[in-house]
Amino acid sequence: MSSYHPSDNDLQQYALEGTFAGEDIAAHAQGCAACSAKLANYRLLTQQMSTMQKPAFDFNLAQLVLGQLPAPKAEFPWITVLGVALTMIFLATVSLVFGSYLVLLFKSLPALFVAILTSSAVAVFGGVLNTIIKEHHDQMKKLDFN
Ligand SMILES: [Zn+2]
Repeated sequence: MSSYHPSDNDLQQYALEGTFAGEDIAAHAQGCAACSAKLANYRLLTQQMSTMQKPAFDFNLAQLVLGQLPAPKAEFPWITVLGVALTMIFLATVSLVFGSYLVLLFKSLPALFVAILTSSAVAVFGGVLNTIIKEHHDQMKKLDFN
C-alpha cells in the first residue's frame, strides 16, 4: 500500500466508469480502509443515481411555448408599394420633361467618362448585391437549428 491516496475526483471517476487511467486505484483501495469506504460510498451513490427516474415534464413544452408566440404578421407592404409608385411617377415625369435634354447630355459625353461612369455603377451594384446575399446567408444560418 502506498502512502499516496487518490483524490476524490479520481475515486469518483473510478466508481463511475470502473476504470481509471493512471494509478491502480483498485489495488490501493484493497489495502486502504479510508479509500475503500469512499469508493464504496461513491459506488452506492452511482448505483442509486442510475436507478433514479429522469426528470420530465408531464406536459408538451413545445406546444405550450408555440401557443404563446405571436402569430406572424402577413400585411401587404403598402409603404413600399407607395414608394415604388412615387419613384416611377417621378422618373416618368423627368423623362417626359427633360428627355430630349438627357439624350443630348449623354451623347455629348466623352466615351472614357461614360465607361468610367458605367463601370462605377456596376461596381457599386455588385457590392450592394454581395452585401445583400451575405446578410441573407447569415440570417438563414441563424434560422438553421440542425
Ligand atoms: Zn487511500
